[in-house]
Amino acid sequence: MWKKPAAVSAALALALVAALVAPRLGGALPDSGADSFPASFGGGPKLPLALSLRKLSASKTLYRSGESRAFPQSWTEVIFEGTEGNSNLVYEFSKRLPDGSRSPWVSAEIHLFTNGRFWGRARLPAGNGALRLKIMDGGIKGAAPVFLSDIEVYDAQAQSAAAGALSTQPSPPEPVLPPLIHTRKEWRAKPTRNPYEPMTSPWRITIHHTAGPQTMDLKDTLREVRFIQDFQQNGRGWDDIGYHFLIDGAGNIIEGRPVNAVGSHVKGFNDGNIGIAVMGYFSPPVNDELTKAQLGALVALIRYLHGRYGIAFSEVKGHRDYERTECPGDNVYNLLPEIRKEAAAPPPAEKPLTIKRPPLVVKLQNSAVPRWDGRAVSAP
Ligand SMILES: [Zn+2]
Repeated sequence: MWKKPAAVSAALALALVAALVAPRLGGALPDSGADSFPASFGGGPKLPLALSLRKLSASKTLYRSGESRAFPQSWTEVIFEGTEGNSNLVYEFSKRLPDGSRSPWVSAEIHLFTNGRFWGRARLPAGNGALRLKIMDGGIKGAAPVFLSDIEVYDAQAQSAAAGALSTQPSPPEPVLPPLIHTRKEWRAKPTRNPYEPMTSPWRITIHHTAGPQTMDLKDTLREVRFIQDFQQNGRGWDDIGYHFLIDGAGNIIEGRPVNAVGSHVKGFNDGNIGIAVMGYFSPPVNDELTKAQLGALVALIRYLHGRYGIAFSEVKGHRDYERTECPGDNVYNLLPEIRKEAAAPPPAEKPLTIKRPPLVVKLQNSAVPRWDGRAVSAP
């Protein structure tokens, strides 16, 4: 059911072209109630539907489907799901009514999660009529990739009668608010020396240690991060600091390389790989231990990245799982099973689960020229 946001980048390549994949049957409704019917568009779109929508001059309509086939039964609701890369889209449906006329367009309510996954629902008059979909500009900027994997209809009355009560809706990973992250601006990062290679759908995380001081004070930390960047840029000759995040002994999380750029931290395995470095030296002879704050921040960051990108906890590994290296040090590596477990546990009291219309959630870079970091080897 759940698709990685890889679909979004695929969508970029397909300007207003439907992917040539057969419609997938069923699925969007876990309810045991009424039957649901996948929408089937005769001359219209085939599902899944990959669109790359762009702002048009006058019209607010960015996409308008053909009419689907009529359905075998009366239906009152349409439910759909997918991934989007721009949150300012409005989905509207219209329906062929029994008298042959068309219903007015109805806006769907959208439940968007921080990883770009969304589902939506709209209620229309009863009848088995065909539907049409329209996607409107609600204030997009630049490209708005959309991947619609499923559009289904069902009879809401029959469903609640049959089920007695509504059960749960499709549930992508629950959105988790990002922890506080100190930005590159705060540590006065030097710009990258060459354009980044974009990373739109990370799917794994690698934990490192910096093999340097376990700083406890934000000021010292920012200075140390500046140092690491200088070493990696000018010493190792990389384009930028190799890690995406660094965490100091006080639990401060520092932004390294932007998370939508491929990092440089595991030789040969940087693809889709978010690099997190805990600051300190966690092996002999120094044998630092993660502080409680540092461990807590690491767990919170992993939990957030899981919710945002759908990264599996089994894909949270240590640097030494890929290469012959001490990194991230025994005192971190041995805690990884516990860290995965903690990150998977429900977070402490969080804010609301449903985000209606948050700001842009998936940053897409489509202008950067893919490029490796020159003679990159790997960070500690
Ligand atoms: Zn490492």
